[in-house]
Amino acid sequence: MVLARRPSGMADHETVRLEEHDVPKPGPGEALVQVRYLSIDPTIRTWMNDAPGYMSPIALGEVVRGGGIGEVVHSNCARYRPGDLVFGMTGWQDYVVADEGSGAMQLIPPGIEPGLALSVFGVTGMTAYFGIIDVGRITKDDTVVVSGAAGATGSVAGQIARIKGARRVVGIAGTPAKCAWLVDELGFDAAIDYRREDVAQSLRRLCPEGIDLYYDNVGGAILEACLGQLALHGRVVLCGAISLYNESSVPPGPRNISNLIIKRARMEGFLVLDYVPRFAEAQLDMATWVAEGKVKHAEHVVEGLEHSLDALNLLFTGANTGKVIVRI
Ligand code: NAP
Repeated sequence: MVLARRPSGMADHETVRLEEHDVPKPGPGEALVQVRYLSIDPTIRTWMNDAPGYMSPIALGEVVRGGGIGEVVHSNCARYRPGDLVFGMTGWQDYVVADEGSGAMQLIPPGIEPGLALSVFGVTGMTAYFGIIDVGRITKDDTVVVSGAAGATGSVAGQIARIKGARRVVGIAGTPAKCAWLVDELGFDAAIDYRREDVAQSLRRLCPEGIDLYYDNVGGAILEACLGQLALHGRVVLCGAISLYNESSVPPGPRNISNLIIKRARMEGFLVLDYVPRFAEAQLDMATWVAEGKVKHAEHVVEGLEHSLDALNLLFTGANTGKVIVRI
């Protein structure tokens, strides 16, 4: 699936094009990987823009960039053996060549389910972990609010806040069913349905002493509402701004940014890429929490490479609960 046209607003079927090419032939020191699962991440939409970012834009005519898991089907090197599962930037395609020298494709330890490798042990789980613990510096006294709370990152962020003994964990999500899942299954103390409630009013009710730690996955109006309810010395972790990724002109705001001054608060953005050297320490904790049933996760699986764009758009319509994965 290659980028055919730069999208304006939500990507549509003119944005990507299915092309057929010969299966690549691995050279010496290389292996052929058949891609089995794609990790569908909101950031892929930002790479489709011709705009400066933390990575270069996807070029027109280039395979859509994205993470995935594949199986080694042929190998000319010692590092990868047929049958091994590997994770890396596979792109939206059936086959990719792994180069032993670059080590860009990581071996997945046997026994780890692909769905877990792409979620709690993968980018979204690691983002939740380092965002809450390292950037957010969570403490036991914290009232924590998480937006995008029923998504892959937010659902794990809220559960980690719970594990770390936060006083209160409130999720913000877009449907009654998602809100019920957060409270009934994941142990959030409360949830706000931002499509049906006045978020600022609900925050005043649910966090009367203010928000100590706000984990922001969405930006925009919800960020503004949370800034308006910050506690003294509150912390705002800027993880993502999904409400803005389809906007060609981003509206000004948040209008109440000066509340950071009044509340002597701190707001900090981060990229999980900077934490790659520390993934192993987080994965150990995650493995324990998953085994103990303290971190639960959900997957939303879409079948077929040709439906990758539909899968990406689920993230923006909110039709997913948990990690969106394409199974090829
Ligand atoms: P996700 O949360 O599984 O899916 C996205 C969710 O966002 C949707 O389910 C939808 O749920 C919500 N959403 C979509 N449009 C919205 C809007 N206009 N207002 C409010 N909510 C909206 O996706 P994810 O992969 O875990 O990513 C979550 C966030 O983390 C994204 O912003 C992503 O860019 C960011 N992220 C950052 C890093 C980093 O290194 N900083 C790494 C990974 C991900 P509702 O039904 O609740 O609307």
